[in-house]
Order: sequence, then C-alpha cells, then structure tokens
Amino acid sequence: MELEQKVKQTLRKIKLNKREKILVALSGGKDSCVTAYLLKKLGYNIEGFHIYLGMGKYSERCLKAVKELCENLGIKLHLYDIKKEMGSSMCYIRAKVQHEKKGLKNCAICGVIKKWIMNREARKLKVNKIATGHNLDDEIQTFLMNIFKGSPELSANSGAITQNVKDKKFITRIKPLFYVDEKDIKKYSKEKKLPVVYEKCPCALDSYRIQMREFVNTLTKKQKENVIKNFEKLLPKIKKLKSKEKLNYCEICGEPSRKKICRMCELVRNKN
Ligand code: AMP
Ligand code: ZN
Repeated sequence: MELEQKVKQTLRKIKLNKREKILVALSGGKDSCVTAYLLKKLGYNIEGFHIYLGMGKYSERCLKAVKELCENLGIKLHLYDIKKEMGSSMCYIRAKVQHEKKGLKNCAICGVIKKWIMNREARKLKVNKIATGHNLDDEIQTFLMNIFKGSPELSANSGAITQNVKDKKFITRIKPLFYVDEKDIKKYSKEKKLPVVYEKCPCALDSYRIQMREFVNTLTKKQKENVIKNFEKLLPKIKKLKSKEKLNYCEICGEPSRKKICRMCELVRNKN
C-alpha cells in the first residue's frame, strides 16, 4: 500500500479529528518532517514543536530544517531551547546524569527528558494531541528490545495511539507513521524534497538499539509488518502483565508519574 494511504488508514483507525489541535514534535529528521507534511496535506490542524538541544552544528542544522519546514507548510513553530530553560545543553545534562547513574544509555536519558518536556509544553499550549515521527522500524526495535530484556510489559502503552493512560495532565501521543517502513519514509521525503537532516544524532550510541536496528534491517517489509501485527494481537495480554498502579503526580514537578517521583526528576533533579 502507498505511504499516504497507510497513514490515512492509521488516522482513521485512531479516529483523529480534524478539529483537534495537534502538536507535531519535530526533530529535524525525516520521520517527524514527513509526519507534519502529511498531517497538513490531509487537512489536520497542526503546529510544530522543536526542542533545541544545543549540541553544536548538528542541532543548528536540525533547527534550520525545522524552521524551513514550518515556513513551507505555513504552520506555527514553538521552540524550546533546552539551554535557556534547563541551564545546559543536552550533552551536559546527560553527562551529569551518567556520572551519577552509571550504565544509563544516552538515548534512554534523552528520551525521558524529551517526553517530559513535550508533555508539559503541549499542555501549556492546550493542544489535544502530540504527534511524533516513530515508524515501523522504531516500534519493532523497541518491542524486541523489551522482549529480549524480559520486560514485554514495557510495550503495553505502545501503538499508533497511546492507550491506557487517561489523565487530564497527560497529553495523548499519536504515531501516524506507526505502520510505515523507514525506507519508504526516506524515499518519500526525497521525492517531496523536504528539508531534512539525514545524519543520525551524534549521540545515538546505544549499542543495544544499534544491534537491534541491524537485525530489523535484515527483515523484509512483509516480515516487519507481521511482527507488528503479532504485537497487536498480543497487546491485550501484554497489558495484563502491567501492574495496575494508578497514575500519580510527581511530588517534585507535578507531572503525571507512576511513582512518587517521576523518571525525569529521578534522573535530573533529584541529586541523591
Ligand atoms: P528519536 O527518539 O530521536 O528517534 O525521536 C522520536 C520522535 O521524537 C521524533 O520522530 C520526533 O517526533 C520526536 N523528537 C525527537 N527529537 C526531537 C526534538 N529535538 N524536538 C522535538 N521533537 C523531537
Ligand atoms: Zn517530576
């Protein structure tokens, strides 16, 4: 099926409404760029959001691409400068966390921080949903990593729409490219000549994910689609593995959290 058709079908499946305001998390890479391009093309009400990570030339190139895209699409861009808001660049924040909590991977720390920022800023902007560029390959990698780690329950909230978490402070996240093969996204972004930074994040050195990516790259499109189909079949069972903890609010920052202190504060704010 064509990429656009697949995305349309996904948006129908998750019942996305054209009146809802959607904040597209734009990294500067191809996936989030194609996500914004298609949502706009299909008539959705979107605005862009970019976290400027302050990681030298790479971040500058990402910011430039995001600005160009939003200008071309005629959408508003909200910028979050991590240095201004949090006092230092992502590299520094991460190095500090790793100094205290050895063994944590770059992407894991960065992911926690980005999600925390996205949810908080999206709520301030009063949007209905956050859209990210996660694609079929990303989702299979994460699913398999969780299986190999022995923690399939970590995939319980995965899917084209974040399920289960119903809380007024938690903004629902959607992944319009959930069923789309990464290679097709790359091809599409080139065909449409979209402003994209194709180089990988210089800090993405998580050997486990790299290993998983190499494995997923050996699969055919059909096989990848089957992995996701089976994941969805298993999802009701996976959800049952998850403890029924209620969502609380973090005692430090007030954001939704399953524990007393959220993951972000545990890593970045709580110095113990
Ligand atoms: P990643 O974890 O880097 O593969 O990114 C996954 C998704 O998160 C991307 O497709 C974007 O939607 C979003 N994202 C990543 N980095 C940023 C950023 N610096 N600013 C805004 N959104 C981002
Ligand atoms: Zn917190």
